[in-house]
Amino acid sequence: MSVEKGNLESKVVERDFYARSEEEQQDFLSQTWCNQCMEVDLGMKNPKEFESSERLWIEGECVNCGAQVVTEIVYEDE
Ligand SMILES: [Zn+2]
Repeated sequence: MSVEKGNLESKVVERDFYARSEEEQQDFLSQTWCNQCMEVDLGMKNPKEFESSERLWIEGECVNCGAQVVTEIVYEDE
């Protein structure tokens, strides 16, 4: 496999959100921030998970208003 450097912007891959455990799915679907409602944990629907070389995130729609909600997943080294 070769990775082209300098063209990272276009390297966004859709992952399978539903491959995650039930628990994780619930967490990500409930722990949200909506820019439109300015409120946390309203929840999201129609989640899609994406990955680029540097980021991992989930996009969905706010359950309350339907605006796009993005949750960035950060893995911390321990
Ligand atoms: Zn909202």
